[in-house]
Amino acid sequence: MDEILDALIVGGGMVGATTAAALAQAGMRVALVEGGEPPAAIPDDAPFDLRVSSLNLASQRLLEAIGAWDHIPEARRCPFRHIEASDESGQRHVHFGAEALELPDFGHFVENRVIRRALWQRLSELPQVRVICRAGPVAWLPGGQHGLLELDDGRLLAARLVVGADGAGSRTRALAGIATRDEDYGQRALIINVRTRLPQQDVSWQRFTASGPRAMLPLPGHHASLVWYDGDAATRAREALDDEALRQAIERDFPERLGGVEAVLGRASFPIRRRHAERYVRPRLALVGDAAHVIHPLAGQGLNLGLQDAEALSRRVTAAFRAGQDPGDRRVLAGYGRERRPQTLAMIAAMETFHRVFTGAAPLRQAGGAGLALADRLESAKRQVMRHALGL
Ligand SMILES: Cc1cc2nc3c(=O)[nH]c(=O)nc-3n(C[C@H](O)[C@H](O)[C@H](O)COP(=O)(O)OP(=O)(O)OC[C@H]3O[C@@H](n4cnc5c(N)ncnc54)[C@H](O)[C@@H]3O)c2cc1C
Repeated sequence: MDEILDALIVGGGMVGATTAAALAQAGMRVALVEGGEPPAAIPDDAPFDLRVSSLNLASQRLLEAIGAWDHIPEARRCPFRHIEASDESGQRHVHFGAEALELPDFGHFVENRVIRRALWQRLSELPQVRVICRAGPVAWLPGGQHGLLELDDGRLLAARLVVGADGAGSRTRALAGIATRDEDYGQRALIINVRTRLPQQDVSWQRFTASGPRAMLPLPGHHASLVWYDGDAATRAREALDDEALRQAIERDFPERLGGVEAVLGRASFPIRRRHAERYVRPRLALVGDAAHVIHPLAGQGLNLGLQDAEALSRRVTAAFRAGQDPGDRRVLAGYGRERRPQTLAMIAAMETFHRVFTGAAPLRQAGGAGLALADRLESAKRQVMRHALGL
């Protein structure tokens, strides 16, 4: 143990790397501990990866503010200007257009690995950040002036603040004794990358069906990422189809507006679970991102929520640091927990409502469709919802 760090971030995923950059940019001495390898460079013409996220405007602005956005090559980001959601019939729908908010777009779809690589490039430009790879925490001891984190390589690190950004199975959360509330939705999401006949679309759409939503996320060029939610057995059977059989299933079961699918380029499925930490803070410790919350991905808000955590925590902690105060102070962290936990609870409640209404009994689904059609006519309410979803 050679120094006392201002902050120690565990987990170099998108949320942890963002937090590290935001704190270091304010002059704090930061270490980032990552269990895996540093992200590799991605050639501009590499095939698109399956893990793609929608970055809303608030997330984009945060990445701009910490100097990471410009490291995302234009060839690998796809702006979207329209969002549509419809019921199973496709007749009743709600449409949101960026022009109604006088915005050029709602945000961008970008591969997770491209976002992460951009963030790590930014970290390499910040001399106050020390990166430790292939290591993880085994013990945590909070103290009066600082806490001690022991790593599995035998190192002992002292820091005034530890941030757990180590994802859904967070070891940091477990070491801090923070319990979670979990729910398994009994659904899987099959992600399929396809080459489309139509050129790049600037709309992200979703159709709710009784077995779960089907969504199209546009990617640059003639590419799209499809998300097909269904029960466990049905998803695994579909995932096992050969490329041609899966292509035909998509053309049969996805809305016609997708246009023809020329080829299936890749597929993988993920279980859909909810997990929420019972608290976000402990003495000298805070949780951010999936370590704090895993939500239903149907509205593509999980990463955006995590980046809002990073923004809120770094705003409060750097304000204390700049004022010469303790950045791991109990009141600073409590303020962060009070700000963020209710926001996540509201998002969980919204996702829960969508899930239960549209996978519920027929009358409930009918009511849901009617709700979408009604919402489409309420222009000012639509603008409010959009501003909220964009994190503005
Ligand atoms: C099917 C699907 C689709 C999704 N689509 C969207 C979307 O469109 N938009 C959106 O906003 N969100 C989306 N999400 C959610 C989003 O992917 C996650 O919220 C986001 O990846 C969480 O980032 P994170 O940095 O918090 O965690 P992670 O990405 O899990 O990163 C955790 C990091 O910590 C490291 N780590 C783990 N354990 C340790 C340890 N013990 N020690 C050290 N390091 C450790 C890991 O190696 C990793 O680098 C989706 C999720 C799913 C499942």
